[in-house]
Amino acid sequence: MQERKEFFVLGFDIGGTKIAVCLADCRGRIIDSARSEGGTQIDYSKALRQMTDTGDHLLNKAGLSSEDLQSVGISAPGPMDMRAGVLRKSPNMVWRDVPIRDDLAKHYRVPAILDNDANAGMLAEWFFGKARGCTDAIYLTMSTGIGGGVIVNGTLLQGTAGIGAEPGHMVLDLDGPVCGCGQRGCFEAFCGGRSISRRMQEILADQPDHPIMRMEQVKGDYRKLNYQILRLAVAEGIPAAREMWDEVCLRTAQALGALMMIFNPQMIIMGTLAYYSGDMLMNPVEKYLPRFAWPQLREACSLTTPKLGSQIGELAAVAPAFYHFYRQGAWQPPKEG
Ligand SMILES: [Zn+2]
Repeated sequence: MQERKEFFVLGFDIGGTKIAVCLADCRGRIIDSARSEGGTQIDYSKALRQMTDTGDHLLNKAGLSSEDLQSVGISAPGPMDMRAGVLRKSPNMVWRDVPIRDDLAKHYRVPAILDNDANAGMLAEWFFGKARGCTDAIYLTMSTGIGGGVIVNGTLLQGTAGIGAEPGHMVLDLDGPVCGCGQRGCFEAFCGGRSISRRMQEILADQPDHPIMRMEQVKGDYRKLNYQILRLAVAEGIPAAREMWDEVCLRTAQALGALMMIFNPQMIIMGTLAYYSGDMLMNPVEKYLPRFAWPQLREACSLTTPKLGSQIGELAAVAPAFYHFYRQGAWQPPKEG
């Protein structure tokens, strides 16, 4: 297939509650974006109409029509059936089993590509961010949960059932804390933001005199305990906080080490939690890594944070659309910018 000179794609970024729609050109430049009213909190057929109305409006505003559109990308939180293009029931949405991929493809009469937000984030960082030019890279969302995307030999790893990759649910300890997925001791159960908050609350709820509970930002209200509070408590030198933090760092190193041993990546990009923690996380992680990965693999891999920052949602929404053309040899990521 010939490389296409100029084309446009629409991206739909489905969040837990909100839906952002954006229009991008073939260099991945976001031309315009808008929020679709009602998000995922209204009946799907109404939400779909809002989404397509928003998309149509963006095209009109840019002086384009659906004829100028080559593809539609959709980034959504799991659970989903990527092969069927269907979103399953997610805790924050009122939708259940919605065929969003085919519905958007039908409306715009172009291919629509659905992927989970971590894979889509990996593609965005690969095409437009830090991992540009890498053949082997890993992206970990590290937010309330831990999602992951893996590029192997220049291909996005999706697995035989279309579930790959879920590094957040690698079991790191048989006796570890129970995870939201039902397993015990997952990476996410140790290091996901939601799990950290829950564990702090379980441990400290009935200890009003604990130095963490007496912090200015907590004032005895255990519901305020979360990852940010833990970070502040570590910075204040509270010993119990240091102990909890140390476990987060050790488990992060264990997970990164396992990923290095399997995939030998050039780069592991770590999202939100690593971004805000900086050296507080990375220094202990580097210290623990030799316990989990061979020197050649550690030396080959740079540990870093995303380049795209707040734009990652929009670029993740359009990235699956670009990947569709990339795989056909019909599109190459821009060289720089
Ligand atoms: Zn899990």
